[in-house]
Amino acid sequence: VFLCFEGGEGAGKTTQSRLLEAWLRERGHDALLTREPGGSEVGAELRRILLDPATGDLSPRTEALVYAADKAEHVDALLMPALERGEVIVCDRYVDSSLAYQGAGRALDVAELDPMLRWATRGLRPHLTILLDLAPQTGLGRFEERDRIEAEGIEFHQRVRDGFLRLAAADAEHYLVLDARAPVEEIHAAITARVEPLLTQ
Ligand code: C5P
Ligand code: MG
Repeated sequence: VFLCFEGGEGAGKTTQSRLLEAWLRERGHDALLTREPGGSEVGAELRRILLDPATGDLSPRTEALVYAADKAEHVDALLMPALERGEVIVCDRYVDSSLAYQGAGRALDVAELDPMLRWATRGLRPHLTILLDLAPQTGLGRFEERDRIEAEGIEFHQRVRDGFLRLAAADAEHYLVLDARAPVEEIHAAITARVEPLLTQ
C-alpha cells in the first residue's frame, strides 16, 4: 500500500507522516517512511542542489527535471522494491508536489508535466494522498528559516495551494483533504480512520 502526504510549507506533513508510520508499526505492518526530494542516496544530493539558496535561479524546466530525476531514482531504488516486499509506504511529498510547485507555482503546463512525471515514476500512483491544506501565510509563519523554494513570494505559495486543491478535487476518491489548522491528534485520528480499511484489502 502506497500512502502520500502532500501540502504546502509548514502544514505538518513530516509530523503526521512520522505518527502514521509509528501507528502502522504498532499494528504489525512493515512500514517504509520516506520523502521527496531526497529519499534515495542520489536524491539526497539532488535535494541539496534544489533547496540550497546558493544554487540561485534554475530555469523552471531544469527544476522540474531535477525533481523528476529524484523521483525516478526513488521509485526504482526504494518504492518499487518496498511494494514488492509488501511494505506500507508513507511518503512525504510525491508527484503532486511537482504538479503544484513546478506546474501551478512556476506556471509550467501541467498537461506537459504529467506525462513526463508518469514516465519518471513508471506510472506508480499512491493508493491514497493525504492533503494537509493550509493558508501559506499560516504555514510559513510556523518557522523562520527559508530554503530556496520557501523563500518565494506568498503569491507563488498561494498558486501551489490552489494547485494541490485542484488535483484533489479532480480525483476525490484517492484523496483525504484535511484542514491543517486542526490539532495534531485530531488530524492523526482522521488519517488512521481513512487508512485502516486500505490495509485489509
Ligand atoms: O521538507 P520539505 O517538504 O519542505 O522540503 C521540500 C522542499 O522542496 C519544500 O520547500 C518545497 O517547497 C520544495 N519542493 C518543490 N517542488 C517539488 C517538491 C518540493 O519546490 N516537486
Ligand atoms: Mg519546505
